[in-house]
Amino acid sequence: MRSISIFGVRLDDLTSDELHARLLELLDRSEPSLVVTPNPEFLLAAQSNPAFRDVLNSSTLSIPDGVALRFAAAANNGTHNLHRHPGVDVLPELAIMCRNRGVILVLLGATNFILAQTKMHFATLAEGISIVTVNPGFINAESPQLAQHIIEDLCLVGPCVVAVALGQGSGRSQGKQESIAAQIVAKVPNARIVIGVGGAFDALSGSVRRAPLAFRRFGFEWAWRLAIEPWRFQRIFRATILFPSIVAYGTIQAGTFGRALVNVASELRNHFFSRLKNV
Ligand code: UDP
Repeated sequence: MRSISIFGVRLDDLTSDELHARLLELLDRSEPSLVVTPNPEFLLAAQSNPAFRDVLNSSTLSIPDGVALRFAAAANNGTHNLHRHPGVDVLPELAIMCRNRGVILVLLGATNFILAQTKMHFATLAEGISIVTVNPGFINAESPQLAQHIIEDLCLVGPCVVAVALGQGSGRSQGKQESIAAQIVAKVPNARIVIGVGGAFDALSGSVRRAPLAFRRFGFEWAWRLAIEPWRFQRIFRATILFPSIVAYGTIQAGTFGRALVNVASELRNHFFSRLKNV
């Protein structure tokens, strides 16, 4: 598996076919695997939160989510065409695998309404799938712990994939979702894959409108999000302005700014031309 590291966080670079095969392989294992989906905000948070960084790096699979990571990989590592797979796309693929393998899909997080809507979505997408929904209630960001009775209930569920949707949070609550996912990996032996999926239930349940395909194809989901949820400005600023600036500053310090610029220019050209060809 090709992997790179940005800000000390491992990112695995897999094509869609490779990711599909790897998820099937993890599903067939007899022990739980942690799957994380880092985006630029994760990497910024990991810089000042070593515990969060360690959880991310303890994952079996670290799937890059966010177009900015592609350009950061080109600038920082000289890696071209880093494949990114948004959690909201990976989860439906996992649901279909669960149905085909007879594995239960556990949806954990969000509100009862969103859980019910997301369950309906998957029941239609993967007819015959077994789904268990869990509303974990309030989880303290200071010392995130999943209630003991929820862990016990999860242990009674058969072989399962657990999708943890606790958002990515901001400030001190960053890393809460991955910390809970890691607890499930450690305490629920029946789990096969435990994956943090952020706000994926919101999008799949239809509670939050996903960006139109053109925005997604070119990596402009953030612009769409800004338009429909302007209060996210600060977080989008961190992902789209602060993150690239820190990456650029790092290359200046390393004396590789010129090469990074050439790499990013070539990446930008490939990114937009390949997508324009497919329109
Ligand atoms: N969420 C949750 N518990 C939490 C924080 C978030 O269940 O402690 C859920 C929330 O209900 C929503 C999803 O996680 O369905 C994403 O939340 P939000 O948009 O706040 O996430 P973020 O913007 O941090 O990714």
